[in-house]
Amino acid sequence: NQVPAIKLNNGTLMPQLGFGVWQVPDAEAEHAVGTALEAGYRSIDTAAIYGNEKGTGKAVAASGLPREELFVTTKLWNGRKQTWGRDAVLRAFDDSLSKLGLDHVDLYLIHWPRPMRDDFVGIWKTFEEIAASGRAKAVGVSNFRPQDLDRIAAESALVPAVNQVELHPLHPQAALRAEHAARGIVTEAWSPLGQGKELLTLPAVAEIAAAHGRSAAQVVLRWHLQHGTVVIPKSVTPARIRENLDVFGFELDAAQMAALDALGAGAAGRRIGPDPAEFD
Ligand code: NAD
Repeated sequence: NQVPAIKLNNGTLMPQLGFGVWQVPDAEAEHAVGTALEAGYRSIDTAAIYGNEKGTGKAVAASGLPREELFVTTKLWNGRKQTWGRDAVLRAFDDSLSKLGLDHVDLYLIHWPRPMRDDFVGIWKTFEEIAASGRAKAVGVSNFRPQDLDRIAAESALVPAVNQVELHPLHPQAALRAEHAARGIVTEAWSPLGQGKELLTLPAVAEIAAAHGRSAAQVVLRWHLQHGTVVIPKSVTPARIRENLDVFGFELDAAQMAALDALGAGAAGRRIGPDPAEFD
């Protein structure tokens, strides 16, 4: 397939475009992920909290694809129920692997920093151990702010391979992307389509889409790809699943990139999801 591979800081290759499964019920996940794998996706983004690791794992098994051709990401739900000492993290990781039916994942992420709990550095120490064991080819974080990355840098020699954050033209995260680049961290965009809401209805997006004979979603995905961001659009509609992968046959020019960049200028408050400073 034509999806470029992005090299992570430990040499692991990650497809630049994958399939996200947030809010896909476990019973539907097998079908949705199966459709995506058939369409040509090779990277799947799930999480313990999505409750669909089993369905995802079934689709992976049923696909018959060689494991080394697939890139599976899951995330630790470091929620409030308990303190996240080493044993709890290892148990949660074992549970994810067992639900997925895999002996390793390609990427394991701390789902949120939850800075008010002040426990992610300890969690990261256990992630180092998981990475060393080979049961995760790479480890990273999600929703981390520069100050959270600073804390990890101060207390660990292992740099997160990826930071998966909310990112789309209405919340472009330019400063954070620059931080990542300086630190050797790959930026991965969650809700890359702005959850299919306002963003896909904007006249500026429609105009570019019309110029290419493409959909608004395809134009937004091109914007990400041309910025070097990893994307994981989600859909359960087969035609859209295929459409979101069919984004390698055209290119936005500099003016079109600039027009999309301008949508988020000065719009730091336009996130759709929670603010990592407060989310617990
Ligand atoms: P998204 O931006 O991928 O948008 C998905 C929605 O857009 C769909 O439900 C559908 O309504 C619409 N859509 C999809 N394809 C379309 C098309 N071709 N044309 C028109 N509309 C289309 O939103 P998302 O699901 O929030 O984000 C993608 C993935 O990111 C998730 O599935 C999940 O894997 C990940 N994620 C991670 C976090 C995190 O905290 N780490 C948070 C949210 C999402």
